[in-house]
Amino acid sequence: MQFINGTRRSGSGAPLSVVAPATGAEIASGPGANAADVEAAVTAAREAFPGWAGLTPGARSDIMHEWARILKTRAEELASVESLNAGKPIRLSSEFDVPGTIDNTAFFAGAARHLDGKASAEYSGDHTSSIRREPIGVIGSISPWNYPLQMAAWKILPAIAAGNTVVLKPSELTPLSSLIFAEAATEAGVPPGVINVLTGTGLEAGQPLVEHPAVAMVSFTGSTAVGKQVAATAAGAVKRVHLELGGKAPFVVFDDADLEAAARGAVAGALINVGQDCTAATRAYVQRPLFEEFVGRVADLMDQVRLGPVEDPETDMGSLISRKHRDKVSGMVERARESGAKIVRGGRIPDHTPEAGAYYEPTLITGAAQSSEIVQQEIFGPVLVVLPFDTDDEAIALANDTPYGLAASAWSRSVFRTQRAAREIQAGCVWINDHIPIISEMPHGGYKSSGFGKDMSAYAFEEYTNIKHVMSDITAEARKPWHEVIFRAE
Ligand code: NDP
Repeated sequence: MQFINGTRRSGSGAPLSVVAPATGAEIASGPGANAADVEAAVTAAREAFPGWAGLTPGARSDIMHEWARILKTRAEELASVESLNAGKPIRLSSEFDVPGTIDNTAFFAGAARHLDGKASAEYSGDHTSSIRREPIGVIGSISPWNYPLQMAAWKILPAIAAGNTVVLKPSELTPLSSLIFAEAATEAGVPPGVINVLTGTGLEAGQPLVEHPAVAMVSFTGSTAVGKQVAATAAGAVKRVHLELGGKAPFVVFDDADLEAAARGAVAGALINVGQDCTAATRAYVQRPLFEEFVGRVADLMDQVRLGPVEDPETDMGSLISRKHRDKVSGMVERARESGAKIVRGGRIPDHTPEAGAYYEPTLITGAAQSSEIVQQEIFGPVLVVLPFDTDDEAIALANDTPYGLAASAWSRSVFRTQRAAREIQAGCVWINDHIPIISEMPHGGYKSSGFGKDMSAYAFEEYTNIKHVMSDITAEARKPWHEVIFRAE
């Protein structure tokens, strides 16, 4: 289950079993990657680097466009593997994950040809200054299980468009689509060694990858807790780090909002991917005059959400990633209940879904304290907490009152209120009268404990380049006026 130097091969680490979360059935197995596989993959990436970095941007772009074309031909296969491995309804993987990934691939194929910098000029008067943007080298990338294919794409594409080579370690739970993604790249003409995928655990494969001296930059998407460890390890070797971490997105509904739009937006924003989305709407703050009606409408809509087998196109919501993760989600809901919050809907394991799966009902909670765990900590499950507010000042303060800052939304018909929310909410993305949509041209990334660095867009492309200033003397003089600051020898 490893993809090293352009071919699939077996790992040398502990056995790995990949399970379909919706049914509990094993769908793949084999030895995981360990430090020896990390060594082989990093060596392959290091050897491939000069050739790939030496191609013209146009040549890299052509290969990546071909990659996007091949992904289109494999779209159905990718969607069904993603759906099976991550427990997602087929509608979500075939209408969101896969087309989003193909679009991202095409976007970065174009971005490869847009190396921007400051204009070359004689800023000192005596030199021509110019900027070079250069690839960094071997990038060690680590991705989570919630959107395995899109996360692999977000890590790999900007890095290789800029001329780097990559060793990606996806989550041990969801490695399958990343392997197909890399294989399709090779089919498109990406040379062996430019993209390597190691499937294994964080400790056995992730940590040696972060520590490897030939890895010049570490790009990590995952929890804030593991992100801190990765950053600390990388800091020891002064490696560049890119961190996309957890989120706890606020959803602020002012009293002049379109209530139906806000209620529908809250249900879609909270339940997308069973809430296992770092930008999911998790805390709705609703101005008091709309509060009761909003809660009622959200509850009605949640009642209509269909849970079912992931391959059924009628299924709205699939399974959580594992029963272990479901225990974590239900533990948080139970603690909220015990501390006095009201569970308006859900808060239970449904009785009509496979017992070995990890389903959980859409859950709506009111009456939680702002300082409570359910409001402050990432749940990563289908749980929406709704709290009231009175003034606009209070809404903004509540929205900013968690350690996270990845995404937020504000709902109002007033341009002044929405603009204020956009200005004052501390998050990498603020949606106005919507919540969730993403687009290849625009960046995704956090403030505060949600990390730093951007995925997608030209900003991500820049993250994977070094900026070099080249300063060339244009006077051809041996005695330069500035030397006199240091010495005046004849
Ligand atoms: P984790 O932080 O648990 O794991 C993320 C990745 O890190 C996995 O591949 C994991 O491997 C690996 N890992 C674990 N320990 C180490 C280590 N010591 N050194 C190197 N790598 C390690 O996150 P989850 O997989 O549970 O994903 C959910 C989290 O991801 C949520 O917090 C979510 O908010 C965040 N996320 C953030 C996004 C963003 O853009 N900001 C987007 C999507 C998710 P393994 O699990 O195989 O052991």
